[in-house]
Amino acid sequence: MNRIRPLPPEIVAQIAAGEVVGRPASVVKELVENSIDAGAREIRIEVVGGGRGMIRVADDGCGIPAAEVELAFQRHTTSKLTSADDLLHIRTLGFRGEALASIAAVSRVTCATRAVDEEVGTLVRLEGGEMVSRRAIGRPPGTTVTVEDIFYNVPARRKFLRSEATERRHIDAWVTRYAIAYPALRFILVHDGREVFRSPGSGRVRDVLVAVYGPEVGAALLEVVPETGSDVRVEGFVGPPELHRADRGEITLFVNGRWVQDARLAYAVVQAYHTLLPTGRYPLAVVQVTVPPEEVDVNVHPAKAEVRFRDGEAVFRAVQRAVRQAVVEGARVPTMGTVSAGAFPVRPAERTPERAPFFPRAPEGMGPVQMPLVPPTAHPGGMPPLRVIGQVGATYIVAEGPDGLYLIDQHAAHERVLYEQMMARRPEGVPAQPLLEPVAVDLSPEWAGLVGAHRETLCRLGLEVEPFGGTTFLVRSLPAVGTMASAHPREVLLEVAQGLAEGRAGTEEEVEQAIVRRVCKGAAIKAGQVLSREEMEELLRSLEQCASPRTCPHGRPTMIHISISQLAREFNR
Ligand code: ADP
Ligand code: MG
Repeated sequence: MNRIRPLPPEIVAQIAAGEVVGRPASVVKELVENSIDAGAREIRIEVVGGGRGMIRVADDGCGIPAAEVELAFQRHTTSKLTSADDLLHIRTLGFRGEALASIAAVSRVTCATRAVDEEVGTLVRLEGGEMVSRRAIGRPPGTTVTVEDIFYNVPARRKFLRSEATERRHIDAWVTRYAIAYPALRFILVHDGREVFRSPGSGRVRDVLVAVYGPEVGAALLEVVPETGSDVRVEGFVGPPELHRADRGEITLFVNGRWVQDARLAYAVVQAYHTLLPTGRYPLAVVQVTVPPEEVDVNVHPAKAEVRFRDGEAVFRAVQRAVRQAVVEGARVPTMGTVSAGAFPVRPAERTPERAPFFPRAPEGMGPVQMPLVPPTAHPGGMPPLRVIGQVGATYIVAEGPDGLYLIDQHAAHERVLYEQMMARRPEGVPAQPLLEPVAVDLSPEWAGLVGAHRETLCRLGLEVEPFGGTTFLVRSLPAVGTMASAHPREVLLEVAQGLAEGRAGTEEEVEQAIVRRVCKGAAIKAGQVLSREEMEELLRSLEQCASPRTCPHGRPTMIHISISQLAREFNR
């Protein structure tokens, strides 16, 4: 057996450093945070070799007084906290006094700094945490920290460094986040001598987003306007529903100016797009939450990417409500070219972005964005008044609107109408419309079991079913909402049974929502059904009354718009 001995101090320092400095990007993050805390207006980040070669962060902030430079590099020394009580009202990004010490412990660091109210600057050099030189220098106020040979003394960590491209991506992500969170500061990012990103420092978040995502996406983003008089302030920019991504990676969240990774808040954003996005797709969003400092605990993790709220539920609801409002108000009818409609190849609007988007990732799920598309109207969902022209393929309604042609998917549109009508009645229970003759429906044993188990819920939603021996059920009523009358009870029940079979694991609320969607799907007018002019007109009038008329409850578009100018272009006028 080995005897228990204290660890040598340099090993202790390296272990502690590991929590703060996981990779080159964490060095960038910590140094940038220090520059922001120092009141910098411009922060320049230079990186060589994805951070393995060198990382340099230069700012024009308050600088470090000559007498305090050594202290700054010691562990648990900070100018940002003086008492435990301060921990409850943190307004700076740093407060643990660990970053500079940790970075210095695992690399070679040079720091040149001059405090604003001092005449002379200081240059220090540290290797593995030890100060190896110090002298006075002349320089303008501010601080430049240069980090070289990261992990030179921690072979285990060095081995785990990922490819240069991966490290660059992580660095880019951090710089972008801070540029968005601090639009009044100018951030300049240089990789291997080439400037790849610059935020204008104008104070406007949208300007930063244009620099990050390119002019088209930047222009399409919808503004989240904060509610007044609430303790939880939610603001930011979110994508219109047609701008969707394959994962949650582009939901960027900040709490009190600090970037956070919070699955629940991200979920609140996704929830706000409920029924507006195709299944399995995620929105692009930048959401900033501001709460009184004492309402949130940021001291959960050394990297500080997690936070805890005193009232997480209230924050969740505020985020969901604010984002939903922005999306519903801002949603526009998708224009040809924003949906991939193969039959109508539409040339993308010719545009040369002054600057390529910083994110090389193509904005999938979105073509050229043209705004504004729809003149303001009195309808709740902002749908323009449409005049029916006819029907194509017994599937699409052709209509004319104030700016051109509209094609409406009759099934998707009717699903939306039924869905909103049922959801509106759901709180008090959807009334039942008894059938003149009950309809017997045979189900598989599995489906029969599920329908039997959910009979009460179905009844509350206006769909009365009754066991009829074996695996057969009698449908006695359909939900009594405006335009359900022509539905086939059999199809409705089969659709519901299938939905129950697919979504068994959900909460009661989720099950009920799924049932409503299935009822609507089963009851909606089908593709291939010839409609009279009156039926088409009635459908459009009902659609106009919807809060979200532009997508079906599954997130597919209900209509496509071809503007007069697009028609002109297609005809080479
Ligand atoms: P923390 O940020 O948690 O205080 P750090 O180790 O990151 O801890 O920094 C220690 C101290 O060094 C800070 O509290 C601050 O006083 C000073 N400091 C670090 N970077 C800068 C900078 N860029 N400009 C001015 N002061 C700085
Ligand atoms: Mg710090």
